[in-house]
Amino acid sequence: MINEDWGTVRENLRKQVGQSAYAAWIEPLEFDGVSGSVACFHVPTAFVGTYVNQHYGDQIVRECSAMNKAIERVAFAVPASREVAPKRAHRPEPQRQTQSVDEMMERGGAQLDPKHVFSNFVVGKPNELAHAAARRVAEGGEVTFNPLFLYGGVGLGKTHLMHAIAWELRERQPDLKVLYVSAEQFMYRFVQSLREGKTMDFKLLFRNADVLMVDDVQFFAGKDSTQEEFFHTFNALVGQNKQIIISADRAPGEIKDLENRIASRLQSGLVVDLHPTDFELRLGILQSKVEVYRKSYPGLVIKDGVLDFLAQRISTNVRVLEGALTRLFAFASLVGKEITMELTQDCLSDVLRASDRKITVEEIQRTVAEHYNIRMSDMIGPKRVRTLARPRQIAMFLSKRLTTRSLPEIGRRFGGRDHTTVMHGVKRIESLMAQDSQMADDIEILRRSLEA
Ligand code: ADP
Ligand code: MG
Repeated sequence: MINEDWGTVRENLRKQVGQSAYAAWIEPLEFDGVSGSVACFHVPTAFVGTYVNQHYGDQIVRECSAMNKAIERVAFAVPASREVAPKRAHRPEPQRQTQSVDEMMERGGAQLDPKHVFSNFVVGKPNELAHAAARRVAEGGEVTFNPLFLYGGVGLGKTHLMHAIAWELRERQPDLKVLYVSAEQFMYRFVQSLREGKTMDFKLLFRNADVLMVDDVQFFAGKDSTQEEFFHTFNALVGQNKQIIISADRAPGEIKDLENRIASRLQSGLVVDLHPTDFELRLGILQSKVEVYRKSYPGLVIKDGVLDFLAQRISTNVRVLEGALTRLFAFASLVGKEITMELTQDCLSDVLRASDRKITVEEIQRTVAEHYNIRMSDMIGPKRVRTLARPRQIAMFLSKRLTTRSLPEIGRRFGGRDHTTVMHGVKRIESLMAQDSQMADDIEILRRSLEA
């Protein structure tokens, strides 16, 4: 693909996404060339890159690969010259040599979100371990666990915790070179350094970090040369006793197409997971956001029950929860109203509907059948051998947990079984999970992939 092709691709995208989305998100992209199977783009800010990737990534890939079949992925990066290096006025002028690496270091990392600090992080049962580990690392004392590996589903606070560690370390030890990048940026920079013949700069940048954080490393799956480079970087830093902090959406061993030696290195420190939020945590997060909001809008009135209702109904992830609340605030301030239950239901009807239709019994059956490699017909059929009955019970258990279906309704969807059979299945799995951690892990993985 060349620049003119990008012109054509842009036009096609304009038709698909509409003029205003086009102007906001596609137009600012600057095509930067193709490297292997990756089409690279410059973006004005890291946020634009993330947003575009999440919302239009697939479409852009599709259109680009129509021009050039080799293209399978897109990557976005803020060109170094455009990033603003934070000032460090309080520091004495460093040596010339270190300065250049230093400057790179400052530019090399992604921007940290100022809202992602520890004081804004609400701690509850599901995230207390991850929070404690992050706190410990942020104290910056002796490196006790290396790497710290944080994992958990989308929107559970991994990035928030990593930024919080970075902020805290910068505050406590301004001279420490703290480098935070997404795995995608790591790859992008690596590919770019290869293309420009500047791999030394790349190595210098990453291997001079005192603390390296790489977010969302599941992105490395299947990207062999990037994995290789990451592995070397990792070893070089660990060898110097430099702290490494990694996040992913699943446990190291669960990341497909990640080399074994890398997975096992990633497991060699402390692995902690962020569990899905529970009602109390969601309510706590909502309350803390309301408190923050009240500081600017003291007149804000929220009727009883509204926050409970949201915490109950929006259980997908914290990002969705936050988005809902922001919309509610905006709406209420526009029409100058207090936030009642009715306003909430009106204003958030789409979000509420989306979290309603979330997971179906059939989806659960399919996912579980696939996981255990059995046929759908056996999943709902009459055979009772253990190899079929166990997955079936797991699917029943998950149906009870993840949908609002009643036991009789679930039974009907399992080939017309009685509700007592379903109840028995659910109980059986509950007790097995308590005894058998492998089983519990397995089910946890299934649940995650269903909720993803
Ligand atoms: P992840 O990286 O795990 O996908 P993020 O760290 O981006 O998730 O979190 C998504 C959003 O939810 C962010 O705005 C973050 O500030 C917020 N969030 C997540 N967990 C918490 C928490 N425990 N307390 C406060 N805000 C949270
Ligand atoms: Mg994240």
